[in-house]
Amino acid sequence: MAQANPPATHALPSYLQADHLGPWGNYLKQVDRVTPYLGHLARWVETLKRPKRILIVDVPIHMDDGSVSHFEGYRVQHNTSRGPGKGGVRFHQDVTLSEVMALSAWMSVKNAAVNVPYGGAKGGIRVDPRKLSLGELERVTRRYTSEIGIIIGPNKDIPAPDVNTNEQTMAWMMDTYSMNEGATATGVVTGKPVILGGSLGRREATGRGVFTIGMEAAQRIGMDIRGARIAVQGFGNVGGIAARLFAEAGARIVAVQDHGGTICREAGLDVPALLEHVRLNGSVAGFAAAETMADDAFWSVPCEILIPAALESQITAVNAGQIAARMVIEGANGPTTPEADDILHERNVLVLPDVIANAGGVTVSYFEWVQDFSSFFWSEDEINARLVRIMKDAFAAIWQVAEENKVSLRTATFIVACKRILQARELRGLYP
Ligand code: GLU
Repeated sequence: MAQANPPATHALPSYLQADHLGPWGNYLKQVDRVTPYLGHLARWVETLKRPKRILIVDVPIHMDDGSVSHFEGYRVQHNTSRGPGKGGVRFHQDVTLSEVMALSAWMSVKNAAVNVPYGGAKGGIRVDPRKLSLGELERVTRRYTSEIGIIIGPNKDIPAPDVNTNEQTMAWMMDTYSMNEGATATGVVTGKPVILGGSLGRREATGRGVFTIGMEAAQRIGMDIRGARIAVQGFGNVGGIAARLFAEAGARIVAVQDHGGTICREAGLDVPALLEHVRLNGSVAGFAAAETMADDAFWSVPCEILIPAALESQITAVNAGQIAARMVIEGANGPTTPEADDILHERNVLVLPDVIANAGGVTVSYFEWVQDFSSFFWSEDEINARLVRIMKDAFAAIWQVAEENKVSLRTATFIVACKRILQARELRGLYP
């Protein structure tokens, strides 16, 4: 007797199942939390739980010693309902498919939250770039770009920098894509050097957005930034710039942790000197004008503001109870697990979620892409003014949704963003 097929919509592919979860599992819980607030659009919510397209590529390169090494690379396009895929590329020894899937989904939410006309995508290579020479790094970048070249493009999916990638990486990616196309296509990546069609203000944009959202929230809860103590995890393009801007506004940066160690100074660290130390040494470790502290003690440092600006799943059920801050500003993507979110909420710690707090980077990426298409470039003042306006307006709308629905700012951001994505989905309809 013929057996009935199981309902196709409930048969999950293996990579979406429980043992492959990790950061993707955290993202799915966040989607579950927003679903009751989506009204009739909830019928489309399954769209958000499945990436549109996943590409896994082998990246073989010649090493300097003549051997051949293979690295695993990914590009995930989570959603393209609102426009082309958009999101960074990270190089890290711990990159996994689950992680890149989650990061691509958070890009969909982030891009919709600030209403830039993109879907969400993300890429990564499982490689420790610190172990490669500059030549090896260039070959990894170029081969990876060539492999994902079949799905990226100025109108299809636009990569950008992320953890351990920078303007030079984007220059190599732009060149490789352009050589394969036979024409220079500056709009295929953002975060390029200014001389190659990059945007003024892009390098600082994520940190500037973190600062802008932090100031907006501080004002709403009556926190004075002057004299406020801040602890920062990650001192790269996000944490370093945010720390500098907060210090310039009168805050004290009392502790910094990165992959090299944890340093602190009750009176406040000299941020410009620390930035220079990191530029020369690659880490905060060994900075003379500070004390060293145990890595685990970082989470309980007395402070008003905590800025996780490194990797995901840093604030967990294990350490959330120790956090002394009144406010957490997520410079990183996915630094707080859903369990930790609940603990912080109960303890009255205000969490400014990644999907709005670190959206400044992609907002200026959007400006860069627009400038590339029109071949007309704006002044840095104009870029910063437009960035701040978009961030403030988006945050005001999210704050209002949070108050109206009595939900966290994360769920409020998801409400605003997921409605935009699913409205687009519904209007476009299913093909065929
Ligand atoms: N990697 C950054 C992020 O996580 C920027 C992405 C972009 O500019 O496309 O938001």
